[in-house]
Amino acid sequence: MTTCSQSLWYPYAQHQTMAVPWKVVSAEGVYLNLDDGSRLIDGLSSWWSTIYGYNHPELNQALNDQLLKMPHVMLGGLTHDAALQLADRLVEITPDGLTHVFFSDSGSVGCEVAMKMALQYFINQDSNQRCADKTQFIALKGGYHGDTLGVMSVGTDDEAMHSLFKRVVFSQHFVDPGDLGQLAHLLEENHQQIAAMIVEPLMQGAGGFLLHSAAYLNQAKQLCDRYNVLMIFDEVATGFGRTGTLFAADQCDFTPDIMVLGKALTGGYMGHAATLATDRVFDAFCSDDFHKAFMHGPTFMGNPMACAVALKGIDIFLRDDYLSKVAGIESQLKRGLCSCSFSCVKDVRVNGAMGVIEMSDPRYLKGVQQFAKERGVWLRPFDRYLYTMPPYIISELELSKVIDCMVSWCQRCE
Ligand SMILES: *Cc1c(COP(=O)(O)O)cnc(C)c1O
Repeated sequence: MTTCSQSLWYPYAQHQTMAVPWKVVSAEGVYLNLDDGSRLIDGLSSWWSTIYGYNHPELNQALNDQLLKMPHVMLGGLTHDAALQLADRLVEITPDGLTHVFFSDSGSVGCEVAMKMALQYFINQDSNQRCADKTQFIALKGGYHGDTLGVMSVGTDDEAMHSLFKRVVFSQHFVDPGDLGQLAHLLEENHQQIAAMIVEPLMQGAGGFLLHSAAYLNQAKQLCDRYNVLMIFDEVATGFGRTGTLFAADQCDFTPDIMVLGKALTGGYMGHAATLATDRVFDAFCSDDFHKAFMHGPTFMGNPMACAVALKGIDIFLRDDYLSKVAGIESQLKRGLCSCSFSCVKDVRVNGAMGVIEMSDPRYLKGVQQFAKERGVWLRPFDRYLYTMPPYIISELELSKVIDCMVSWCQRCE
């Protein structure tokens, strides 16, 4: 059976050959309930977003309260408490120096906003003609910043994702994470054309769960500063605890010029993103010349329900010390996965609430989804990566089921 005759078009899927997706009828805590009666532990937090679990009573309440007041209102010419409060709250909890918040509706758009901000930052300094040439970006190889045209240009440049579009996307500069010599050389040669460097700090998610050090980022930032190049942190995946600190930036010695949050920002309840900027960036837009204003404004930016649920989520995160939950998940993942040294396994990496088994070949993962389902776990590998990024509320017993499932799958290829 194929899904070609269906009206619903699925993401990253070949309808001719894809398996029929499993239907979820409800979700509670870490569990997904399927229409065939099975109950699966969500090992992926629905694309890394539902850190508080599903159907959280306090998040439900916050959303309901806001719904009854006002589900939506435009942010052009109008404002409202939920957006004002969330902006203040994000400034409070993010690294010192990030002082202004621009909302949008998804991580991709949040990153587009960051790139556009960086470009216009230099355009607005038109007294310095040289700055107007700064139209390009540096990105890390293996990075992912979303699926829209602008961010595709700074995403991984190898076969998997967006290489089909090579001719239409802007051409950018790519460096190997960790290689400072390469970055220094690139900046030396091209800094006059480069507006910003964009990175997923510490952990590159969708590109294959690659890790690099905070020391590398510290040095990279110094190089960027030397050449008047902005540093953008895409924390859409790493933000809200995933790498063990509230933000990956908290492990670095500096504050990025621009930072993007998404995914877990609303605990997976609503699509929303935030692009934060420092005074240095914001001040370049603040002028009596209207043309220096930032020309962007998604219809649903600052949606009151998204802001209300994000605010409540942040309260819960801090009140219930979610970072200690992440620390517990990390040590359990390390204990459980690091023994996984079978012939089909190329590498195992754990960082915060992320654990990945990299196989030597994608074919070793064929059938793993069904295998996991039979063990009460929802996992969805891609390419050669079998990974988990569970909700932070997962219990030790539940996480051990996820880990056992991953390890016993790999055992079979011995
Ligand atoms: C998921 C992701 C995005 C894109 O977010 P969407 O909400 O899917 O548009 C951008 N950057 C990173 C690091 C991500 O993981």
